[in-house]
Amino acid sequence: MTEVSAGVRYSLKGLDGVAPSASSVVELIDRQCARTPGAVAVAMATAVSGAERRIGYAELAGDVARLARRLRQEGVGPGRVVGVSAERSPELVVALLAVLKAGGAFLYLDPALPAERLGFMVEDADAALVLGPQGFAGRPVLPLDAQPVAGEVEEAAVAPGDLAYVIYTSGSTGRPKGILVEHAGLLNYVEWLVTEFVAAGKPVTSLLHSPLGFDFSLSSLFLPLVTGGELRLAPVEFEHESLAEAIQDQTLDLVRLTPSHIEVLRAALDGRCDLPGARVLLIGGEVLRAGQVAALRALFPSASLYNHYGPAEAVVGRCFQRLDESEEFRLAGYAPGDPLPVGRPIPRTELVVEQGPDGAGELLIGGLGLARGYLNLPELTASSFVRSEPDGRVFYRTGDQAAVDAQGRLTVLGRADDQVKVRGYRVELGEIEAALRAVDGVRAAAVVRTVRPQEALWAFVVGLGQSRLDEPELRAELQRRLPAYMVPHRLLALDALPLSANRKLDRAALLAEAERIGLAATVDKVPSVGGGRLAEAYRACAQVLGVAEVRPTDNFLALGGDSITAMKLAAACRRLGIGLRSVRVLATDTLAEAFAGIEN
Ligand code: AMP
Repeated sequence: MTEVSAGVRYSLKGLDGVAPSASSVVELIDRQCARTPGAVAVAMATAVSGAERRIGYAELAGDVARLARRLRQEGVGPGRVVGVSAERSPELVVALLAVLKAGGAFLYLDPALPAERLGFMVEDADAALVLGPQGFAGRPVLPLDAQPVAGEVEEAAVAPGDLAYVIYTSGSTGRPKGILVEHAGLLNYVEWLVTEFVAAGKPVTSLLHSPLGFDFSLSSLFLPLVTGGELRLAPVEFEHESLAEAIQDQTLDLVRLTPSHIEVLRAALDGRCDLPGARVLLIGGEVLRAGQVAALRALFPSASLYNHYGPAEAVVGRCFQRLDESEEFRLAGYAPGDPLPVGRPIPRTELVVEQGPDGAGELLIGGLGLARGYLNLPELTASSFVRSEPDGRVFYRTGDQAAVDAQGRLTVLGRADDQVKVRGYRVELGEIEAALRAVDGVRAAAVVRTVRPQEALWAFVVGLGQSRLDEPELRAELQRRLPAYMVPHRLLALDALPLSANRKLDRAALLAEAERIGLAATVDKVPSVGGGRLAEAYRACAQVLGVAEVRPTDNFLALGGDSITAMKLAAACRRLGIGLRSVRVLATDTLAEAFAGIEN
């Protein structure tokens, strides 16, 4: 382990002397099931009929205990990883809790990820078995409704130091890396949620709408279940239009959003929300900028807004700032692009900023329940989880640049490395570049993330267009290896990558080039597809994608579209008086099919 720098340090302590109230969240959920057996624990509206499927706390406890018994019979216990492969559903919730109750650690295998990536995760984590419809990497499979077999089973005693889950995040060396999170860290986080958001023992109802492979989702998953509230699951085919509708529901207490959602919700709600909506919006996952607060306020006039920060290595979130009226008043002095403070640490957390002369520096996080490290990556673990002398306490080097303001609040300014966020998802540009280089015919590749004219990933590829490597083929290869949000929106051929004076890749030059092309496409050109409403729809499509022209035979995703651009297209069409659902744009093979119902 390397040390924490002995230079100027600014330390922000959220440590308190209160001992945790249980040894794990499993214990808290068990207690809750006994307290409110008749209350609804998990509810899910089905996309098809709109009817709700509900499970009460007593049923939840029974289902979890049964599956946990079976898992114990399969040899699951402390330190054993169990893959869980299922769409968002009550069965998925039961499976995750059962793995924890059996003493094991869950590894969520999102069916939306490429099979190759899931196989790697299962093998890397050495999963004992996979709960779900199919196996990966030759591991045993157990159905989600597996029943225990006859015979005695000893219940697991879950200890704070036991592994609770393994979560994979993008890795700069070209492979995703598994983060090992222990019960102590998860419990500490959930206890903070209870302290901060539970008013006078009132149950909390939340909406889970984001993928569980993103630890941001764990706040919405666990808080209701330890307070006797309702965990509402958004249907799998959830669209942004439905998210906008769902969070206007006044019975919701907590909703988690990324700043990327703001623009989408604005488009879906035409900038205004008529109802008060959720009580608390917990925003995080990427930098929240001052200019976004007014938009949030217009959408949710009476919600409490919180900016919440933390990396998965420090378990979901470690720092928070409530944006109340006085805070918003203070923000009047901020420029729209300025990052907002992420505030102060949660209990049992210590934040250190290794300040340089300008007052900013790398942020380190210490305290109870940091992740144990990265799976099978001892060197990276040693360089990221460092020891502070002389007491030997461990801190995680976040890679985030931060500063502390006059009020003692922390602001995250950005990063000095090549890690970026795409719609709230953490992405190492190096991982995409490695995936590109692994494709036959690619000689070199560099990826940048643009913010203008819109947030997008652009790849510059040497070798593309030569031999037999064309864009659709390269895109298909990447889709087999990478999650959808990591597949570059644009793939451009280049003869050679530009180098800076010190012979390093000149990423800044590529970024400038990508933004220049993107802006030129949006400003100068309009597509030529005749007149009338259909032509307007095609024109709107070209505009949201930032391309010069689109053809009826084009595929929206192949042009670099994603769920957010689809949402923007639906909103643009709505303004033109054309009814178009974003899910249709994403699900159809060609634009002609997507626009089939539009009369010219
Ligand atoms: P993840 O591990 O996916 O949660 O990503 C963690 C990273 O997201 C952090 O290291 C930051 O770079 C960024 N991040 C998360 N929340 C915030 C926030 N509220 N403000 C600024 N950056 C954030």
